[in-house]
Order: sequence, then structure tokens, then C-alpha cells
Amino acid sequence: MFAADRMPMTTLHDCAAPGASTPAILEKTPLERYVPPAKPSLIGLSRAELGAVCARIGVPPAQQRMRVQQLWHWLYVRGADCFDAMTSMSKELRTALGSHYTLARPEIVAEQISADGTRKWLLRLPGEHEGERPHDVECVYIPETDRGTLCISSQVGCTLNCSFCHTGTQRLVRNLTAGEIVGQVMIARDRLGDWPRKPGPPGEAASSRPAAPGVGARVPSEASRLVSNVVMMGMGEPLYNFEAVRDALLIVADNEGLALSKRRVTLSTSGVVPLIGRVGAEIGCMLAVSLHAVTDAVRNELVPLNRKYPIADLMEACRNYPGLTNAKRITFEYVMLKGVNDQLADAKALIKLIKGIPAKINLIPFNPWPGTRYDCSDWDQIERFSEYVFKAGYSSPVRTPRGRDILAACGQLKSTTEKLSARERLALRAMAMTE
Ligand code: SAH
Ligand code: SF4
Repeated sequence: MFAADRMPMTTLHDCAAPGASTPAILEKTPLERYVPPAKPSLIGLSRAELGAVCARIGVPPAQQRMRVQQLWHWLYVRGADCFDAMTSMSKELRTALGSHYTLARPEIVAEQISADGTRKWLLRLPGEHEGERPHDVECVYIPETDRGTLCISSQVGCTLNCSFCHTGTQRLVRNLTAGEIVGQVMIARDRLGDWPRKPGPPGEAASSRPAAPGVGARVPSEASRLVSNVVMMGMGEPLYNFEAVRDALLIVADNEGLALSKRRVTLSTSGVVPLIGRVGAEIGCMLAVSLHAVTDAVRNELVPLNRKYPIADLMEACRNYPGLTNAKRITFEYVMLKGVNDQLADAKALIKLIKGIPAKINLIPFNPWPGTRYDCSDWDQIERFSEYVFKAGYSSPVRTPRGRDILAACGQLKSTTEKLSARERLALRAMAMTE
């Protein structure tokens, strides 16, 4: 837990002089103090859109390509958060950019750091229409010895109403934009001090960071970055916001920018069958499928989308996912619900179902929330299930949740937001996915 001084949130995106401090401590800002951004951010724009930005501020056509390259580099390699940092561009150009645009990420309104290094950020996004209340989403970072995984959201809320998921009980508020999705990665790198040649926040000196990959590395190679993996397993169904998710993940994986390998980016879907092929063709990242049941009768109950796209169709789409090999496997997620889907007969049927698909099974202990009708399976039963799947030749990790202390602290936020369980689930889910 952090305990130092409180700093005004407004300083977060100010341009810090080299070596100057940025606030180490972030705490929840009152909702009524929220001010939506007055200017659009360049984060999340494609190269073509950045070209249009350059044209708009009067960059001559012959220079536009070069300026876009420079902007891309400053945004995604150097993590610039103000135009003044872009020293390879003229002052005039920087001023022109700054008078129309910002480099703002979503506003961080709270940060929690677990004793084990897990971090959660509560982010505030503007409402979709003017005058609408802002929305809060959360992203979670889990450092491990060989990787650091960031779990990000694609929507505020979700329309799909899976019966065991708290997010599904909220009405859909809105889709995130590509910028808000990429922005979650930018924020994590900002707060972790994970940009080359840019000072991190105070207290993030290499020596004081949790044992995590690449601690102290200023010019990180992929495996040595603090954020080495991204999983789209936060709030929302990413395939119901396909274009924004695709555009964002392509930026995350862009070789000249954030440059995460597509092997280190995983998208989780509840089974939007018609779009699964497009994930492979247009994004090319790793796929996780929330299976959770082995019969249509049970899956219809757990994941109502199954009525539209039943298990057989889902399995067919998985079999056809491009590029599957033993080194590039689909992850089937399976939440362990006591007496519902956790019998050895289910494990047996599961193995039969996925036969021939390069796969691993991720067993997720159910994370209960107020009012749910489900219980988590007994630990012995989860182990028996896992053992069966493992003996059948599939990796079947069950993740011990980490960051319990900050999940507990989450409870303290509950009075101000009704999204506690969704956030807990988000954190647990991200933890469950790390291996
Ligand atoms: N909408 C997408 C991705 C976000 S949910 C999807 O459903 O795949 C990420 C994962 O968390 C999914 O596998 C989801 O089924 C699981 N999940 C949702 N609620 C949960 C809960 N209460 N306990 C454990 N896992 C849960
Ligand atoms: Fe939506 Fe995924 Fe939750 Fe289902 S499990 S309601 S698809 S977020």
C-alpha cells in the first residue's frame, strides 16, 4: 500500500522537465471534480489519421509522412506525454499541435499497489455525449519473475449477461475508443516507469520496484519490459467492439512503437463465432475462449450467447483459427462453479470436445459477488478436475489469486462505485491468465 503525500491529479499529464517528479500517489478524485478533456488526444489514432492531423495544422504534404513517423516514435517508443518533449520537431509545430490536440491518456483516479507488486488503476473516461456522467474502468498489472501482464478493458459494462459475471449485470454504458484501449497500456508504462530514457514516477527507481522482468532496464527488449504481455480480459466483450479493439491491438503490436509480440497479446471472447476468424486474420493475436461448460444446456445458462452460437459452431471456429500449432494454442477458460460444471464427467467431455485443437485450459476459481447464485467449486474438486485435464495431455493451470490485499482495499471503494465485483473479477481473471 502506498502511504506518501497526496498530489493533485491535474499534474499527471503536465509536461515534466527532465528529471522532475510526477506524482507517486494517486487517490480517488471526487466525481464532481471531473472535467472532460477539451481537446482530442492523439493516442490511438492510426498513421493515416495522424497524417490528417498534420494536414490540419498546415504541415506541407511532402513532410507529412516524416512527421507522422516522428509523432509515432514520440508517442509509442518514448511515451511522450507533452508536445514540448518532442525535441525533434520545431517549436512552431509543437505549438500548433498543442493548440488543437493533447497526448492525454484516460484519467487515473486511483492506484493501488499490492504487497506482491500487483497494481490496479481506476480510470475515468468521459461520457459518450456532452454532459453525461463519466465512466470508470479498471486495469490491472501483475508482475511475475518472467513477465508482467496487463489486463485491459474493451467496454464499460457488457451486454451479454453471463449469469456468473458481475459485469453482465450492469447495463452497457459504452464501447471504449481505440485511444482509450491503447491508453491503458500507456498508463501502465507511465506509472511503472517503463519507457526508455524517460524518468518514471518517484518511488519507481529501479531498485524500489517489485522483482519483475527488466527492472531498471531503460531501453527494454520485449522480454525485459515491465509490461511484457497484454490480455484483453477486463470488462466487456471485445468482439462487440471489434474495430476499436483491432485498431488498438495493432498499435500495441506495432513494431515501430509499443512493439509487443502478437504472441504476448491475448484476446478473450465469450464466443462471438462470426468474428473469431477476423481476430486471426486482422489482429493475429492469441485467442482465449470463455467456454465454461461442455453441453449446450449448461452453457446456455452460463453464457446466454450460446443460444445464438452453440458449442459445435464455437469449436468449429476454434479449429479454423489461423496459425494454431503446439506453440500457438487456444486458451479455453473454464470458471469452476460448484455443482454446475465441475464434475469429472465434465472434464472428460471437455477433453473430447477440444480433441485435435492445440489448446490449454485455464481453470478459474469462481469469484463470487453480492447476489450471485453460484459458489466456487471446492478446492479439492478444482484440483481433481485440473489433474484429469493435465493427465489427458493439456496444460491446466489454476491460478492462486494475487494482490489479495488490494482486492480487499477495493471493498473500501464500494461505497463510491458499484463496480467492485467486476473489478475483483478483472483482477482475478488477469491473475488467472498469467503462467
Ligand atoms: N467478455 C470476455 C472477456 C472479459 S471476461 C469473455 O467473456 O471472455 C474475462 C474472463 O473472466 C472470462 O472468461 C469470464 O467468463 C471470466 N469471468 C467473468 N466473471 C467471473 C467470475 N465472477 N469469476 C471468475 N471468472 C469470471
Ligand atoms: Fe460480458 Fe465476458 Fe462478463 Fe460474459 S463474461 S458478461 S461476455 S464480460
